[in-house]
Amino acid sequence: MNSSFMHPRNPYRTPPDFKELALKFPEFRKHAKQKLTGKIEIDFKDAAAVRALSTVLLKRDFNLEVELPPDRLVPTLPLRLNYLLWVEDLLQEVNPATEKIVHGIDIGTGACCIYPILAARMKGWHFTATETDETNYKCSLETLERNCLQNHVTVIKVTAETMLNGNIDTSHKYDFTMCNPPFFDSDSFGPKSRSDKRPLPMCPKLGGSASSTEIAVKGGEVKFIENLIKECQELKSCVRIFTTMLGHKSSLAPIIAFLKEAGASSWSETEFCQGRTTRWGLAWTFFDNFKVPKLPLIRPKNNGKGPPPLNYIISAERWSNKGDLTVACILMKIIELFNSLKMEIRKIKDKKDKKAIEFIARENTWSNQRRKQREGKRNADKVCEQPEPKKAKVDEHLLDTQKDLTFCLKGLLLLEETDTDSIKLQMQWIEGGSGRESINQILQYMKNHLFEK
Ligand code: SAH
Repeated sequence: MNSSFMHPRNPYRTPPDFKELALKFPEFRKHAKQKLTGKIEIDFKDAAAVRALSTVLLKRDFNLEVELPPDRLVPTLPLRLNYLLWVEDLLQEVNPATEKIVHGIDIGTGACCIYPILAARMKGWHFTATETDETNYKCSLETLERNCLQNHVTVIKVTAETMLNGNIDTSHKYDFTMCNPPFFDSDSFGPKSRSDKRPLPMCPKLGGSASSTEIAVKGGEVKFIENLIKECQELKSCVRIFTTMLGHKSSLAPIIAFLKEAGASSWSETEFCQGRTTRWGLAWTFFDNFKVPKLPLIRPKNNGKGPPPLNYIISAERWSNKGDLTVACILMKIIELFNSLKMEIRKIKDKKDKKAIEFIARENTWSNQRRKQREGKRNADKVCEQPEPKKAKVDEHLLDTQKDLTFCLKGLLLLEETDTDSIKLQMQWIEGGSGRESINQILQYMKNHLFEK
């Protein structure tokens, strides 16, 4: 999985450790296979394995108890979160300081109303969700009850003919709609009859267990969303932003043309990339007092690899007198150093020969310290000191505070035993700060304090 494509706040930017999951959850262990290299993997084409993965991740990472029916679409979490986080970014841009509870609509909520339960747990959002399929409707109700989320989410059973009209309370104001439509055209996809020998419609990348009505509809996603846009006309003043996911890039152009005709005042599109699956997102509004923001694509600039990581070899010579040349010992010292720099740390990989942490800096402590050191040195060198003009000092202080308020850098640090007398240190920029340059500065700081002193 190429995690660098994912939304910066997506917890699965760092893929879950399957070994850890297999040890912790017997229901996942059943599907885990050990490769000759010792690596634990699952077969992503096996629906039961993908279902088990989503179930245990929901439990472990979101405290959500979910029972997914065997013959329905399995929601894969990295993609669902990428979409949800994009919606959150859009809302943030449009109305950053809102204090009121966010209320969204999810069209076609599926077997466990995945978007509403994630958003309710993560952000306390409220949802009205619709569903046509009886099994999915019932399972969604059960999911809400099991997780005590009935106060946050209402599921409505609807018919295919009317998605929103008549089902949604139009006296209420909604912040957004979401939709993961049936992507395929039922006329050109899957078996035509029970006697047809072709296999049931499968979404290979989605764990291949979806029922035909979940993933295929007459006219495909273009028709489905066009119908939705027609229905939006009735709701255009009570929903701020409409959004949908799309399974095919080619659907964007006809839908945008339809939106223009329907009188949408602005729209924007994005791409969700996770592993080998790419999906598209489209958002639109009929409001005139704001534009749907065009957010920068979260996409690496160089051939899908993201900014290249910085590598540094910790040799025995560079580590002499500081302790054992082991991944554990070096990481301990690095964590001490990062703590002294007021960074937040989250362990991501914790093997004997390979350890990784994610670090977050709320302020630029490393170059402040360097500045202080430099100032200290300069002052010591000076025989006679000229007092600095007062005004300049005040301005500098203000500037620093302003910078600190917006500064947030996120990075990854990986330590790996490569051979017996050296350890590889790798640092990867994730988000914020001055990009890779900030990571470079932190590496220099570490060299000065831990390795090359
Ligand atoms: N949101 C879920 C499910 C997406 S699959 C997820 O992301 O995993 C699409 C869902 O839309 C299916 O559950 C299907 O039953 C439902 N559906 C199809 N037509 C619909 C309609 N007209 N109104 C509401 N739901 C519909």
